Amino acid sequence: MKREIRDNSRLIKRFPELAFFSDPSDRYAAFRTAMREIRWRYFLLAAVFSSMSCLVVPYLVRLLLVHLRALLNAPHLHSVSRVVVGVCNGLIPLVIAFVLVHLFRKRIQRSLRSQLVARGTPICVECGYDLRGQLEPRCPECGKAFDPSLIQCNREQQ
Ligand SMILES: [Zn+2]
Repeated sequence: MKREIRDNSRLIKRFPELAFFSDPSDRYAAFRTAMREIRWRYFLLAAVFSSMSCLVVPYLVRLLLVHLRALLNAPHLHSVSRVVVGVCNGLIPLVIAFVLVHLFRKRIQRSLRSQLVARGTPICVECGYDLRGQLEPRCPECGKAFDPSLIQCNREQQ
């Protein structure tokens, strides 16, 4: 496996921050660092999230349906509630996967941005906005304040 991320890599489409690293092997190293930073947190989060959702949510759904059935005095809803519980159980892993991928991506993006900022590349850690040419230390996209010394780096690069 090549230890570099080329310009035409699909990863760059997913993580536009990578384009700011000009050297392909540099890019790879930054991505590795980002992955390493989140790994244990990600798995902890995944474990807590999945166990919570797979155990607690179906239980709550079942409880809700039992109460609803009693409230409406409609025991024939039993088969309907089984379908609802089944659908919920099927959807939960999908929702978990979706949320985790999203969080995972956010984490990597933030790490890549922080690495860029540490190297003096002006980029907003919060939203990824390219801060080159900014005169005030505040992101025009999301309003987050940033280190004024980046403006200085900015001028030196121009
Ligand atoms: Zn921003």
